[in-house]
Amino acid sequence: MTRAARRLAKSLRARISDERVLEAIAAVPRERFVRADLIDDAYEDRALPNAHGQTISQPTVVALMCEALELQPDDRVLDVGLGSGYHAAVLAHLCAHVYGIERDRRLATAAVGVLADCGIDNVTVAAGDGRDGWPEHAPFQAINVAAAARHRIPEALEEQLAPGGRLIAPLADGVEERLTLVRRTQEGLERTTLGAVRFVPLR
Ligand code: SAH
Repeated sequence: MTRAARRLAKSLRARISDERVLEAIAAVPRERFVRADLIDDAYEDRALPNAHGQTISQPTVVALMCEALELQPDDRVLDVGLGSGYHAAVLAHLCAHVYGIERDRRLATAAVGVLADCGIDNVTVAAGDGRDGWPEHAPFQAINVAAAARHRIPEALEEQLAPGGRLIAPLADGVEERLTLVRRTQEGLERTTLGAVRFVPLR
């Protein structure tokens, strides 16, 4: 591990208590997912711009979202807004299989290449509108949304949650964006609002 990666691991430890999540972050070489000219910043704890006007998520936010999803080794997870594939790579270490959807075909294609280079073989990628979810592979034990929905989480995504399933998404109300956790319980959908974040919009 480089000095920068060690520094990041240490600062994550202050906010994340789930050891499996910390291990998953440490196992993913973030430098492979960032734009070539930003490699020196790969282990900075912030979102970085990618080649197509989108971003690669901040490690602390990725870790918080993974922790909130309470992932189990057998879980099948839908990742909406695959982008660089970084977040999916971390999820892939924590569950059985990740289904990643990205609207920008160029990003989806690039992510497939990087994930294969990293030896990650439990992520299936499609280019398309993630607001529809991925009905062919539903239901999912967990759904991760990496782009901010306005006011409400797309219904199709909530419908594709398995019993006991968890969904996390940034939700924009026009003023700010907050991470929202949805859980499918026996009584129905239970919603909890977590901290404020910044994400690109879900379009
Ligand atoms: N998880 C990514 C972060 C990507 S930023 C990473 O770790 O790198 C959010 C991504 O969501 C962008 O790549 C954007 O193109 C994508 N996106 C936005 N709206 C979408 C939609 N409706 N369906 C699928 N992807 C979408």
